[in-house]
Amino acid sequence: MDKIRKVKGTQDILPGESEKWLYLEGKVRAVMQAYGYREIRTPVFESTALFSRGIGQLTDIVTKEMYTFEDRGGKSNTLKPEGTAPVIRAYLENGMANLRPVQKLYYISPMFRQENPQAGRFRQFHQFGAELIGVPGPLADVETILLALDIYKSVGLSSFKVKLNSVGDQNCRAKYKQVLSSFLEPKLAALCKSCQTRFASNPMRILDCKKPPCQSAVEGAPKMIDYLDEASATHFKEVCDLLDLHEISYELDSNLVRGLDYYTRTAYEIISDDLGSQNALCGGGRYDLLAEELGGRTTPSVGFAAGIERLLMVLASQDLLQDLASRNDVFIVALGEEAVRHGQRLSRSLRQVGLKVDLDFLGRSLKAQLKEANRTQTKYVIIIGESELEKRVAILRNLNDSEQREVAFDVLVDTCTSIFQD
Ligand code: AMP
Repeated sequence: MDKIRKVKGTQDILPGESEKWLYLEGKVRAVMQAYGYREIRTPVFESTALFSRGIGQLTDIVTKEMYTFEDRGGKSNTLKPEGTAPVIRAYLENGMANLRPVQKLYYISPMFRQENPQAGRFRQFHQFGAELIGVPGPLADVETILLALDIYKSVGLSSFKVKLNSVGDQNCRAKYKQVLSSFLEPKLAALCKSCQTRFASNPMRILDCKKPPCQSAVEGAPKMIDYLDEASATHFKEVCDLLDLHEISYELDSNLVRGLDYYTRTAYEIISDDLGSQNALCGGGRYDLLAEELGGRTTPSVGFAAGIERLLMVLASQDLLQDLASRNDVFIVALGEEAVRHGQRLSRSLRQVGLKVDLDFLGRSLKAQLKEANRTQTKYVIIIGESELEKRVAILRNLNDSEQREVAFDVLVDTCTSIFQD
C-alpha cells in the first residue's frame, strides 16, 4: 500500500527540533510579559466572513490562499491565515474594552495559507504576534516595534533592519491612490497579471510586488508620505522621533504597504540579512479601521506578526541554537525479572522528586542498555542486577567520567536528589 505522507507545505517538528521551538516560545513569552502583554488563544478556525471582511476581499490571502471548508450545516469556515482579525473579533465579542481601556495581547499560533511552498514559506506555519488595542497615539506604534526587537535581541540576533512607512488613513489615501493610478496607468501592460487586477482594486499593493517588471514599473512612483494629511504626517514624525529617542535605526521604505487593507498610518517590517528572498521576519502596523469593519466601535490598534520558522532558520544559520536537546538525568538498567520490578518502583520515586528518568522496555542486555543510555546522553545510570538485589544496593555510575559506586536502596532517591540539586 502507498505510504501516506504529510501534506505539501506542512512540517513535522520532531524531538531535537521541538526543543528549539520550546526555547523560542519561552523567550517570546518572557519578553511579552516584560512588556505587560497577556496571552490570548483564539480558535484555529473561524467564520470565513471574519477574514474576507477583516483582511479585505481583494487581498491575496482572501482570493487565493485560504483553506476554506463548509461544515455539515453548510456554514463556511476558514483555518486562520493570520492572527489579528481573530484577536479583534475576540476582543469585541468578549467586551474586553469594558474590562480595560487598553488591552495588550499576544499569541503564538499556527497559521494556514495555501501558498507555493519554498524555503521559509509553508502552508502551515507559525507566528507569534502582539496587539496593542485602544491607543491612537504613536507611543503604541513604537512600543510594538521595541517589543519585536527585544524578542529578537533576547535570542541573540543582532543583524536585522527595521523598514518603516506610513500608509496614511482614509482621509488622505484616496487622493494618493488617484495620483498613483495616474502614474501607473501608462505602464499597465508591463505589470504582472495579479498587478493588472490590483490596479483597479488596490493599486498600492503593486508597490510591494516582488516581480521584476512591476518593481521597475514602480520606480520613481509618488510616495504616500508626501500625501499625508497633517494628522497622519504628525503621527509619522512622532513615530520617527520616538525611534530616534530609543536609538533604533530604521530605513524609510515608500514601497512598504503590507498586504492587508485594514492598515492605517504606520507600517513596518523587520528584515533579516541572513534569509534569502523570504527575508521578512516580522510585519506590523496600525489598523485603526479593523474593529469597525468587524462591527465594533472604532478602536485604534497596532500590532505585529512574526514568523517562527524563519526566525529559527536565522538562529540556526548563526549557531544560536546549540545544545538545547533535553537530556535525561537517570537511566535505570535493570537485569532480570525481580530487578525490573524494583526498577519500576524506583523510576516512579525518582520522577516524583523531579528527575528525568528512563528505563528499558525490551529486556535488553547490560551492554545494550548502557548503549541506549549513552545514545540519549543520560547523565547517570543506576544498575540493578541479581547480586545488587541480594545486597540491597544499586550501582550508580556517572556516564561523564565512568566513576561508579554502590548506594544502598534506602538512600538511593536521596542520593540522586542531592546530586542533581547541585
Ligand atoms: P504576514 O502576516 O504576511 O504579515 O507575515 C508576517 C510574518 O509571518 C512574515 O514576516 C513571515 O516571517 C511569516 N510568514 C508569513 N507567511 C509565511 C509562510 N507562508 N511561511 C512561513 N512564514 C510566513
